[in-house]
Amino acid sequence: MYYTLLEPWALRGYKGRLLYLEAAGFRDRPRPISAGMFSLLCRCDGKTPMDSLTEEETRTLQQLEKHGLVRSSGTPQPWQPWQEYRYFDNRRIISAAWGITGRCNARCRHCFMGSDTAVTPDEFTWEECRKLIGEMEECGIRNVMLTGGEPLVHPDFFRIVKAIAEKGMHVTRIYTNALRLTEETLRRLEEDGQRPEMIISFDGLGVHDWMRNVPGAEEKALAAIAMCKEHGLKIRVSMNLNAVTLPSAERTVVRLAEMGTDTIFIIRTTQTPKWLDQGKNTLGDDEYMEMQLKLIGILRRSRKWNTRIRFFNGLEVGPETTPEDISREECNWFSEEVEDSAWCGKCVDSFFVAGDGRVLPCDAFEGGTVSGDFLMKDNNVHTRPLREILNDSEYSRMIALSKKELLEYNPECRACEWCSLCHCGICRACGIAALAVRAGTYHGMDPMKGICTPDPIQCRFYKGGYFARLKKLLEETR
Ligand code: SF4
Ligand code: SF4
Ligand code: SF4
Repeated sequence: MYYTLLEPWALRGYKGRLLYLEAAGFRDRPRPISAGMFSLLCRCDGKTPMDSLTEEETRTLQQLEKHGLVRSSGTPQPWQPWQEYRYFDNRRIISAAWGITGRCNARCRHCFMGSDTAVTPDEFTWEECRKLIGEMEECGIRNVMLTGGEPLVHPDFFRIVKAIAEKGMHVTRIYTNALRLTEETLRRLEEDGQRPEMIISFDGLGVHDWMRNVPGAEEKALAAIAMCKEHGLKIRVSMNLNAVTLPSAERTVVRLAEMGTDTIFIIRTTQTPKWLDQGKNTLGDDEYMEMQLKLIGILRRSRKWNTRIRFFNGLEVGPETTPEDISREECNWFSEEVEDSAWCGKCVDSFFVAGDGRVLPCDAFEGGTVSGDFLMKDNNVHTRPLREILNDSEYSRMIALSKKELLEYNPECRACEWCSLCHCGICRACGIAALAVRAGTYHGMDPMKGICTPDPIQCRFYKGGYFARLKKLLEETR
């Protein structure tokens, strides 16, 4: 008799926590296991005969089989090599978002990275890519999200995908403006066994070309969405909301829903350096949130589509979302692994590598939000091994901030009735931006003070009654 540990389960250990059974690459909490269970599961490799088991071991294996963790067989059924026990001398990180290039073939009016064809931004060379992919694998990362600039303009894009796949990792997302997205792109991804979620920028019918500053961008983006749908890929559209795109927002969302878009992430275009001359077109908090509620109402009342709207704060509302789902105090936006983290789940579970090699909590810390003079000197993968940065750097100290410490810095949230639901304003990047707007500069900012500042838009969501209205809307359209 042989037993095989089933996918996606794997045996893992991380810095300070030696023995885990985990669904590798997923956000689920890894399960701590005893030395006895570890030894039993090590033999569930599908090739070690297990004929002389104790009664207790037999009972345990029967339970594991009942719960879909192992499968018994009369013949050897070896597990995948990545399921074997591995110890990683760093905290558990599931995904990396990687800006493989700072270049872009669009000229968006709002680009927060300042990517533009007229400049020569940083780009990973092939050797640098190979090195970083190896380091990611050695840190236990299973999912890689490729972004830019525009990732499809990197000359080694397909080599990068292949190298990631060869290391047993997955390209789980590609962020693209779709200008270069073709059947050939999807075919080559499929050849390497990759079926990423496609995150496509589309700002609205009749306004997309204006936003992206590229004639024909709208036609290309819509064709790309349809093509990805035909290939059965998940699609998330990132849609900018501002005074120019607002009038077309309703028909755009309906059109995207009709096309089978899985998620629409509605982003308020904010004051990036490039957008400053469009300042008059930036929406106020209330205009932005009113429109989000309206769009959710349209989708929920139609009952025709499965499209979900993703809020600014990571909250997602789909056809099945209930008022109870958004009212849980043990908020699912936070990683279960770092229960007391002051950060959003995305920043706990992943990190962002900018085109110039800096490791940052997320892409919102790039470009306009936090420029190089603020963050950080010891966090560049071109000059330090990734593991060292994850373990001991300004980045690692920042990301270790607990909610308790945050509240010590932040009397406003400490005294607030919404604190347990709101998590002190979920977005640390928005907190920094708020402080910079108040001070008029990022220069000389105390980073900890910045990330501990309440996120003003999240504040408005709760204190301005939008949370209550969203709950009511979900109740009415249940
Ligand atoms: S916003 Fe995105 S698509 Fe537009 S220029 Fe910047 S990187 Fe390119
Ligand atoms: S509503 Fe505002 S003050 Fe209250 S916890 Fe949230 S961010 Fe802090
Ligand atoms: S810090 Fe803010 S922008 Fe960054 S991932 Fe978290 S919620 Fe999103």
